Amino acid sequence: MKIAVVSGKGGVGKSSISTSLAKLFSKDFNIVALDCDVDAPNFNLMFDVKDKRLLEIIYREVYKINNNCIKCGKCLEICQFDAIEDFKINPILCEGCGACELICEFNAVEPIKRESGYIYEGFVGFPLIWGELEVGESGSGNIIEHIKRHAKKHNAEVEIIDGPPGIGCPLISTVKDVDLAICIVEPTKSSVNDCLRLIDTLKFFNVESLIIENKKGMNNIQYPFKIFHSIPFDLDVPKLIANKILLCDSNSKVSESIKELYEKLKEFI
Ligand code: SF4
Ligand code: SF4
Repeated sequence: MKIAVVSGKGGVGKSSISTSLAKLFSKDFNIVALDCDVDAPNFNLMFDVKDKRLLEIIYREVYKINNNCIKCGKCLEICQFDAIEDFKINPILCEGCGACELICEFNAVEPIKRESGYIYEGFVGFPLIWGELEVGESGSGNIIEHIKRHAKKHNAEVEIIDGPPGIGCPLISTVKDVDLAICIVEPTKSSVNDCLRLIDTLKFFNVESLIIENKKGMNNIQYPFKIFHSIPFDLDVPKLIANKILLCDSNSKVSESIKELYEKLKEFI
């Protein structure tokens, strides 16, 4: 079973909840954890992975101008991404469309491979696979596809996926084939609004969703959707996270609440 922990916006406690759920699930099930928040992966930091192993480098095709160039300027005119300046191609801006290669009559443009991301694996009592996007690169969705492919090899009973915040391409790559999405919301207007958009996105992909309120009591708010479980607001949580203490391992009311949530989620397996 594939379970994704997602949120309509960042900063609502998604990763601190998903790390705890991964650990709790690992006690009863054969699991693999996936960190698909490839712009800001932090599962490995929370679990303090020491033995990370590079599984794969992801490349994309960009172009470069070679010494055959006579500076006719045709490629500058055709590039829709302003990626060519002073007859040099900026690999970060180059989208790899190949138009410059097609228009050049002097064989002066050639494709090259550029590293766009990396897939890593660590063992934290269970396998953890995560991706990291190279600085300045787009293409998170592609990196996520590779993470999922590596996770599949473990043939785990349960996959716990820490998804990216928002409703864009990385979120869609993460949730399109999961069995259950756990949506984290906090009692603020912006979080509720973003959660509504997230729920619509999940509905579109026919993914069952459960809404978990985090930081209950921080603010009074009426939710326009059903809350499956609430985790109380606790001022000690930032300190626990800073000290890399998983919420489920702490001596706090948050810990008890996450364990209750886990017991409820087990019913879905
Ligand atoms: S089209 Fe070819 S020859 Fe002309 S400027 Fe571009 S690379 Fe140089
Ligand atoms: S491949 Fe496309 S985006 Fe890249 S420099 Fe050439 S025309 Fe521009």
